[in-house]
Amino acid sequence: MQISTQYFQLGKAFSQRTSPVPVANPALLLFNEALAQELAIPFEEYDQQSIADFFSGNKIIKGFTPIAQAYSGHQFGHFNPQLGDGRAHLLGELTDKTGQVRDIQLKGSGISQFSRRGDGRCALGPALREYIMSEAMYALRVPTTRCLAVVATGEQVYRERAYPGAVVTRVAQSHIRVGTFQYFAARKDTESLKKLTHFAIKRHFPEIEVQADAELLSSEQVLAFFSAVAQKQVPLIMAWMRVGFIHGVMNTDNTAISGETIDFGPCAMMNNYHRDTVFSSIDKNGRYAFGEQMTIMQWNMTRLAETLLPLVSDDEEKSVALVQPLLTKLHENLTQSYLQMMAEKLGIIDFKDDDQTLITQLIHLLETNEVDYTQTFVKLTDAALNEKVHHELRAVFGQWFEQWQSRISANKAAAQQLMKKSNPLVIPRNHHVEKILAISEESGDLTALHEFLTVLKSPYTAIENTADYQDAPADNDENYHTFCGT
Ligand code: AMP
Ligand code: MG
Repeated sequence: MQISTQYFQLGKAFSQRTSPVPVANPALLLFNEALAQELAIPFEEYDQQSIADFFSGNKIIKGFTPIAQAYSGHQFGHFNPQLGDGRAHLLGELTDKTGQVRDIQLKGSGISQFSRRGDGRCALGPALREYIMSEAMYALRVPTTRCLAVVATGEQVYRERAYPGAVVTRVAQSHIRVGTFQYFAARKDTESLKKLTHFAIKRHFPEIEVQADAELLSSEQVLAFFSAVAQKQVPLIMAWMRVGFIHGVMNTDNTAISGETIDFGPCAMMNNYHRDTVFSSIDKNGRYAFGEQMTIMQWNMTRLAETLLPLVSDDEEKSVALVQPLLTKLHENLTQSYLQMMAEKLGIIDFKDDDQTLITQLIHLLETNEVDYTQTFVKLTDAALNEKVHHELRAVFGQWFEQWQSRISANKAAAQQLMKKSNPLVIPRNHHVEKILAISEESGDLTALHEFLTVLKSPYTAIENTADYQDAPADNDENYHTFCGT
């Protein structure tokens, strides 16, 4: 195991040195052996209890130095200068087998100076939910943070009532957020901002060559960094749009500069296609609705750009003039990538600008016919080659269906291959996730959860139980609400 504490070493301005608060009775519920192997963790050498002790925070693996990271963030558009890890501890980093440095963070591991009125804890349900959702996203080929372990604490957590508590271990390329940059920008701490940018370049974008001294960071390097971060968000948002994922709380503190999905609190999956789909109980205005995600990511990247202006030039106007084209480029890239992604869902191998009409018409038809997003694309995938299913789709799509068929007619087999890669057979549907969580929480038996996970790990290839989890909810999840207060 190759342990480091690089973020801790950035210094006091960046984090609070603080230890997890021990829990009463740690018991290992889930352990991600495949991920542990990637991270070269020699877990076979330890018994279950030792693993539970390590990933509850009751014992610290030698070499780690737990910290709570400082950050700010725009929450639903309102700036909060003081957020930070209120219930999480970054233990340090591990270098994985490919040589990539990855953060190991405990969540639900107790209070820090950033806790405000919170208890520093996490309930079991949301911990299991994060494990299920992140594993599903990973298998769906969505860039994502992952879960290494879920440990029951043997303690109660009080929300609207008492729940069993848990600690979840999160693995991320880093936990640097747009909000981390905002933290230093809000304090006009340009030196720390430079240090953070320099650190983030070295961690995430080593292709941008920098000198050892952060002070020597050039305007060009800062611009290259911003451009790289912005472009990293494109495959992320495209993957979300492709599988029908609604993050639910795209605050700037929940936007990782690595371009990974982070913070699964109120996330949900869309059933019937509608761009206004929202499940989060606190997102009253639909700021983070399914169809807003491309726009919101640009908003978040604009906030990041603002923090970097002083590093680009002392003349703010000049800085803005240099950054603005990069935001325009992000907009263009998102727009173009979206069409490309949708074209791939339709089996169009050689996307041309003309295909835009076909895609726009399809979206209109999906919305007006209120059809299930995932199931419809599975049916279309079948229809690329199989005459039998055409009848039903013709009824929904009419003339459009013939146009699409003719568009892919040059090579239908290749079209179907592409569609099979783009369109999942199964996603972590809200009603199944909730059912599995209820069974797991009530009985303490995780058999059903493991069966579900097995299916979710194979989203593009049907396996034994796949069919059990493909059904859409009868009511389109009309009364389904998700919560942040995990
Ligand atoms: P989140 O909604 O998980 O993105 O959290 C937003 C902010 O609230 C972060 O600063 C969290 O650390 C903090 N927070 C959320 N839940 C708790 C809790 N139970 N105790 C302390 N801080 C919390
Ligand atoms: Mg958060």
